[in-house]
Amino acid sequence: MKGSSHAAIGVAVGTIAGYQVHPDLYTVAIAALVGGVSALVPDLDTNGLASNRITISKKVTQWLMQLVGAGIFVAIVYQYFTKGFTPSILIYAGIGLLFFIVSRFITQRRMLTLTGFMVMWLGIVMHQSIGVMLAGSYIIIASFLPHRSYTHSLIGLVFYAFILNQLQQDWQIDVLLIAGIAGYASHLIADMKVFPMNRRGVKWFAPLWNKEW
Ligand SMILES: [Zn+2]
Repeated sequence: MKGSSHAAIGVAVGTIAGYQVHPDLYTVAIAALVGGVSALVPDLDTNGLASNRITISKKVTQWLMQLVGAGIFVAIVYQYFTKGFTPSILIYAGIGLLFFIVSRFITQRRMLTLTGFMVMWLGIVMHQSIGVMLAGSYIIIASFLPHRSYTHSLIGLVFYAFILNQLQQDWQIDVLLIAGIAGYASHLIADMKVFPMNRRGVKWFAPLWNKEW
């Protein structure tokens, strides 16, 4: 199923969940958003939510990294001609070179891994938010998993609920947990083999029982 279909179903179930918690516009709007985003999360284990769009964004990322690398080298040259040689120039040259090397070899999945580490770092900066750090760890783990494995199982759903529960406590948004679970679960249900458009099913009980439903 396409990402846009998953998102649409997630928005619908998120809206319903939000309405159950508090039938006011603010709660329902947040719940709809959380449901829609959560319905995209299980497919972080693919090579991208929508592979075509991601290919472009990969090129843009490579280009940005090379631009940053080039910017660092320009700054080094400027520094050299204004202040002469300092040992820090070597460090900056190394960083600039690293940007070029990483931009050449990075794959879609390793970009996701890097994103996960950035989210974890954000969690540390944001007053040690356990929820944000856990979200980063989810992204890192998903970036190494084969498609439709643990993110598409009860373990994935429980881990995601655990993250939401932490975020709900951190941010005091009481609709986060229920709308997020609804969105995530809707993805797994929509990916099941009972629907004729799915050639593969969902391993709900992986790794205990690898039957596809
Ligand atoms: Zn999926």
